[in-house]
Amino acid sequence: MHSWIRSRDDWAEEEAARLGPWAERAADSRGRVHEETEHPYRSAFQRDRDRIVHSRAFRRLEYKTQVFVPHEDDHFRNRLTHTLEGSQVARTLARALRVNEDLAEAIVLAHDLGHTPFGHAGERALHALLEGAGGFDHNRQTLRVVDWLEDRYPNFRGLNLTAETREGILKHGCHWEHPVAVPDLGPNPSLEAQIADASDEIAYVSHDLDDGLRSGLLEVAMLDRVVLWQGARAQIDREMLGASESTKNAQTIRGLLNTLVTDWVEATAARLAEVQPGSATDVRQADRLGGHSEAVGNARRDLKRFLFENLYDHPDVLRVSREAEQVLGELYRRYTSDENLLPAQVRARFDEDGELRAIADYIAGMTDRFARAELEKLDGSGV
Ligand code: MG
Repeated sequence: MHSWIRSRDDWAEEEAARLGPWAERAADSRGRVHEETEHPYRSAFQRDRDRIVHSRAFRRLEYKTQVFVPHEDDHFRNRLTHTLEGSQVARTLARALRVNEDLAEAIVLAHDLGHTPFGHAGERALHALLEGAGGFDHNRQTLRVVDWLEDRYPNFRGLNLTAETREGILKHGCHWEHPVAVPDLGPNPSLEAQIADASDEIAYVSHDLDDGLRSGLLEVAMLDRVVLWQGARAQIDREMLGASESTKNAQTIRGLLNTLVTDWVEATAARLAEVQPGSATDVRQADRLGGHSEAVGNARRDLKRFLFENLYDHPDVLRVSREAEQVLGELYRRYTSDENLLPAQVRARFDEDGELRAIADYIAGMTDRFARAELEKLDGSGV
């Protein structure tokens, strides 16, 4: 390699100089399950991130629902745009707090890979169908996708990601059978994983408000009771007198997002200053360091409650969710009663993975439109 090129070793030196002692360093990674030669100029975490973006499951995110709003519109978030918005929040948090941006980004980019079609309605449906056979959970499925279901390397299954990225995906421990050994978890995950978690939530509470208003299911007048909205809106009303309603709404959500991000950075920085963890291992053993201040944490909980009551549990959303549950239920019923309806590559996995798990993996991987088209196809052929 030309000596002028910034090598992986150069990158390691830069990380050592730039990051706080509490950060994960790519050069100190606990490594991959299957040993591989390191890349000449990409760090282990950069490589994880690229593997995730190049996976088939990542491309399917584009056609999976985020919140099941019952209106056709090209501007609503899907799982892909949600994931990208979350990953940008993660980069901001990671840079500000001097932790490993590549790792935080990789974890967020992967965090929804195991999501079923049709959002949480799909997940609930699949979990109910698999009762007594291990159930279904999207975090567990995400680890299964990266460790087992992605199939593009000659010598192993999955993407063979580093222990640090897998730890961030795993979140709460592994209480089920998993085909690949899982990383040991301390009382808490790395700060990068805590950032990934927070970024997911900061992204969705902000963009679900936006989509909720756009869909007409939420109205601005309903938000008067929501402290975070009120605070951001009061400032916009003072500063942007002549602006249109839609500009004011967009700027209010922008202000609210900024409040959440800034508060998380400042409250976490204050705890870091107090605890002074000397390593990423110290972060794992300490009380949770990443988080909001008490005031903004409470306000964020209020906003989430508002979203549940008025958007996620809105009768129109629940009605569409029930239809989605029926689609998945029908597919599952037909596949389990006649395995010949399944593609050969799914049947080929019955021996190793078990029939029900292989069917669940297949259904969970579907996009919304594929699931609908598949059921129509089966209906059309009179099955
Ligand atoms: Mg998410």
